Amino acid sequence: MNNDTIIKKRIAIFGSTGSIGTQALEVIETNEDKFSVEVLTAQQNDDLLIQQALKFNPNIVVIGDEKKYRKVKDALASTDIKVFTGENALEEVASMDCYDFMLAAIVGFAGLKPTMKAIEIGKAIGLANKETLVVAGDIIMNKAVENKVPVIPVDSEHSAIFQCLIGETRNRIEKVILTASGGPFIGRKPNYLVNVKREHALQHPNWNMGAKISIDSATLMNKGLEMIEAKWLFNLRPEQIQVVIHQQSIIHSMVQFEDGSIKAQMGLPDMKLPIQYALAFPKRLKNNFPRLDFRKVSTLSFEEPDVKTFRNLVLAQEALNKGGNLPCIMNAANEIVVYAFLRNRISFLDMTDAIEKTMQSVTYIGKPTLEEYFESDGEARNFAADLINL
Ligand code: NAD
Ligand code: MG
Repeated sequence: MNNDTIIKKRIAIFGSTGSIGTQALEVIETNEDKFSVEVLTAQQNDDLLIQQALKFNPNIVVIGDEKKYRKVKDALASTDIKVFTGENALEEVASMDCYDFMLAAIVGFAGLKPTMKAIEIGKAIGLANKETLVVAGDIIMNKAVENKVPVIPVDSEHSAIFQCLIGETRNRIEKVILTASGGPFIGRKPNYLVNVKREHALQHPNWNMGAKISIDSATLMNKGLEMIEAKWLFNLRPEQIQVVIHQQSIIHSMVQFEDGSIKAQMGLPDMKLPIQYALAFPKRLKNNFPRLDFRKVSTLSFEEPDVKTFRNLVLAQEALNKGGNLPCIMNAANEIVVYAFLRNRISFLDMTDAIEKTMQSVTYIGKPTLEEYFESDGEARNFAADLINL
């Protein structure tokens, strides 16, 4: 008998109704012999959560918004699925020993605490939620090492780097080259950006993603967050991280070793691949995703990012260099301004200005504790919100 067919990996998807969460469920659906769904969580989207629960029959679901608890509970009354809600539900469920692998696919700072709990009880992590490492990467990665927890990146760039590093444990990295599509406003200047609206900013040329990361991609903050994410995942110094614009999103990122040799991981832009890779690691699973045909790719282009226009990259570089709570402050301010922009409360270029002012104003701490990270997050949110009159 084949062991693979008997022991299924039990998956907890935190943020199952999002872009990453739903794509993960598609991967699981086609590999039902290898994975079972144990936990599903959503903040608002009760209808989709109910639908997912009825289809995948998890042990537990969490609906963040307490007003929606009754509806979810009633809809699942004929099943034995347990329904949780409330402020501490995510952490409580993350601490339960009913799953093997957490796919951390909540967006923003909200993903940090449940991921921390999962690491504390020794669960493997598939990390989509980059904000967790931006806010408290030192504490998270130290805990993971202490508890021998693998943190497998889901972000396509970091999955690429992770894949390039397989078989290279004894070899030093000279640098990593993070590729960036440049987002919908590549080549544009401030006089154009001053007028762009949310609908336009949400149109990403290569990827279909949640609202927050789509705006982050348009402002290039996404790449800034990813530089900091790379630092913690791969234990890099700031000068070992380079960003290059590669509009086609075919090369997902590269690693250059000390002998100058460069490895790249490539493929069509499709998040299901890095999601599947993280779920099945160290195995590669056969699938029927569309294949890249090099005869049909006429150009792979590379250029330097325009940091004069997309100043978020400069701010992120500063946060990366200075460390401490500065990335946490930057992330908090960014979350505030992105949601304000999504609600048409501020303009595209106002976002960077507010992040910069917040970074200059909130007290810098060189080596924060977890509590101090939480305090800095709160302080930066309040400061940024006041600044833009929210
Ligand atoms: P999304 O907005 O589509 O989904 C977010 C999920 O998190 C939803 O299930 C939502 O219910 C849940 N959620 C939102 N706010 C919450 C809160 N306060 N508390 C608890 N749950 C909450 O986002 P996404 O695009 O799937 O991105 C998820 C994460 O993955 C982000 O950190 C993003 O940067 C990262 N990521 C996404 C992609 C992508 O292609 N979408 C690629 C790389 C990395
Ligand atoms: Mg990415």
